[in-house]
Amino acid sequence: KIVDPLVASVAEQETAIDVERIRADFPILATKVGDKPLVYLDNAASSQMPQAVIDRLVRYQKTQHANIHRAVHHLSDIATQEYEEARRKLQHFIGAREDREVIFTSGTTDSINLVMHGYGRKFIQSGDEIILSELEHHSNIVPWQMLAEEKNIRIRVAPINDQGEILVEEYEKLFNENTRFVALSHVSNAMGTINPIKRMIAIAHQHDVPVLVDGAQAAPHLKVDVQELDCDFYVFSAHKMCGPTGVGILYGKAHLLEAMQPYKGGGDMIASVSFEKTTYNELPYKFEAGTPPIAAAIGFGAAIDYLEQIDLDVIAAYEHELLIYATEQIKMIPGVKIIGNSASKVAVISFVIDGVHPHDVGTLLNQDGVAVRTGHHCAQPIMQHFNVAATSRASFSFYNTKKEIDTLVAGIRSVQKVFV
Ligand code: PLP
Repeated sequence: KIVDPLVASVAEQETAIDVERIRADFPILATKVGDKPLVYLDNAASSQMPQAVIDRLVRYQKTQHANIHRAVHHLSDIATQEYEEARRKLQHFIGAREDREVIFTSGTTDSINLVMHGYGRKFIQSGDEIILSELEHHSNIVPWQMLAEEKNIRIRVAPINDQGEILVEEYEKLFNENTRFVALSHVSNAMGTINPIKRMIAIAHQHDVPVLVDGAQAAPHLKVDVQELDCDFYVFSAHKMCGPTGVGILYGKAHLLEAMQPYKGGGDMIASVSFEKTTYNELPYKFEAGTPPIAAAIGFGAAIDYLEQIDLDVIAAYEHELLIYATEQIKMIPGVKIIGNSASKVAVISFVIDGVHPHDVGTLLNQDGVAVRTGHHCAQPIMQHFNVAATSRASFSFYNTKKEIDTLVAGIRSVQKVFV
């Protein structure tokens, strides 16, 4: 069935996902936990890989494996072509102008550290200020704190309200003549809030300040167009979007990447080396020192193919349906509170059960086969805001079903029977 996103209603689009057929693409979903079927609701940490991606990784390992860029022999040539093809898939996926604006890294954390070292160390000086938000993942806090400590830079934090939404007016007030950089998440990992990122980027640009967007939780669920957003940097990881671990990307506007200093030194990132003077390679290789994660990058390309063949708009509509269904069910359980209940969310629900520690919630749900994440979700400032030590987080993907949500809800009710 062909779905026209402009015409079809959300309900019609939902039927465009044949979830049972999609589930058959994911061998791991047939796992049993004891005698219970696995209900995998930890997709915000890592999503699962379809057979197409697994097959692509195996094909690379069996028939194409070699080091890239360094030899004229047959296999090296094929591996290089496939690696560069994966880069182009990522380029088109995010709407980047040029493929050299896509740098393969080991993941979101690595990408943010690259920008901190490559841009921050060079262009942000003592007395300058960086703006972050209260709902950042630790990966988008700690690198900037390291820079702040090293260079005596002030970090200013845009606050959130009790729905888990950034207060954009407060964010705007943080800008002054010392502001040099903004780093914000597109979507909160702990609560699922979708931030008004385009507006926030435009505000920063009114002050001539570049913006890094942490898209780790957005790229798997929403169509991202970096030119339309006009972000200066955009980063995400493959393992949260049906790809393998060990690879992610940094998108950066070419003129910024060109002005930046390399983050890691080594082979491949150089044009020439002598003990007197070394010159650096052109983009994107300047930032890809050493042997990159070739297999994982090619697998990432296959994951992009898979997601595009389903269509990100169809995925978003179906996941929204799951979010609404799960939210309604969970809200009806007395003694359960959802943390961060914005109207603008991806399919993530963080919750606390009165009188039960999240660790116990996770342990008991696991006995029902339900995988949720419990803890601070690498976002301790959010926990501090809501005055909780931890939450339980159920995060959904397009291969989850309403029946699985029923299992989660029944599981929460049995946890309460044990503890409350
Ligand atoms: N930023 C956000 C919003 C995340 O959700 C995560 C992962 O949980 C990260 C950054 C770090 O990603 P990675 O561990 O793949 O580097």
